[in-house]
Amino acid sequence: MIKKIVLARYQGFCMGVERAIKIADETAETRGQNSAVTILNEIVHNEAVVDGFRRRGVGQATSLDDVDSGLLIISAHGIAPGTIEAARSKGLEVIDATCPLVTRIYRIINKAIADGLYIIHYGDPHHDETAGIVGHAPDRITVAASHEELLALPDWPNRKLGLTVQTTAHSRQFREVEKLALTKWPQIEVFNTICNATTQRQDSIMEMAPLVDMILVVGSQTSANSKRLASLSADACGKGMLIETAADIKPEWFDPDAGVTRVGVSAGASTPQFLIDDVIDRLLQLSDQSTEVVRLKDTPKPKQATAG
Ligand code: SF4
Repeated sequence: MIKKIVLARYQGFCMGVERAIKIADETAETRGQNSAVTILNEIVHNEAVVDGFRRRGVGQATSLDDVDSGLLIISAHGIAPGTIEAARSKGLEVIDATCPLVTRIYRIINKAIADGLYIIHYGDPHHDETAGIVGHAPDRITVAASHEELLALPDWPNRKLGLTVQTTAHSRQFREVEKLALTKWPQIEVFNTICNATTQRQDSIMEMAPLVDMILVVGSQTSANSKRLASLSADACGKGMLIETAADIKPEWFDPDAGVTRVGVSAGASTPQFLIDDVIDRLLQLSDQSTEVVRLKDTPKPKQATAG
């Protein structure tokens, strides 16, 4: 039986996701009657959100080859400038919903390259965000997805180097990567491009972990940041699970011999609030009248000791 449900201080939609959904929403509403509207790649990595647009008649494409006319919306994860140019030359009107924190990486990289640097980008080579970043300077950016891949890169003694990282990377892992990179290339300039929303959601897991026996992270299997929150939860509290919806919750997780009476709830940056609410409702169904629900954002922080 669940005795306590703890809700993470920061969870769910981030600024970039809210903004991208709003842009796509308004475009579908105001222009969708007269023009075909297509989103290139998933607007954000969440099935429920993607499905919602699909049901409203908004087209989805993973390649520009599949879009011949109308309006093209660029997802929150961004895109290579060459794709935007190609879309415009096909006569498409481009509406850019790239998150400003992804655009910030483009600016950092463009400036570093103008200063003569070659970039090592630490991230998932198959993620839309990485494709957009690499597309900004394919011959100057090398992607490494693991410590091994990083260490296998050449020594490049005569190159000025810069290190950037996927916005949703694990901050602890990135500190390790930074250390390895500085050992291998003491001249490397490090740009920590992990976004605020990611750091806040990861810190919230660490804050919640000592208070619970299990953490449920609501998010899609396609969401890099949700998967990372689930793996951080597993490391920090022993039991951390990624669930897409409330239907994934199994009552036997809370059997008396399972040792789980306190459950934490978090959600990735692309998870809509209604999915989080459904999970809380389901957990409440598996609770009793005495179950306490703690919202960490309401917990007053201990006062800082003052000097003197
Ligand atoms: S996770 Fe960060 S970079 Fe990605 S959309 Fe949200 S705010 Fe932007």
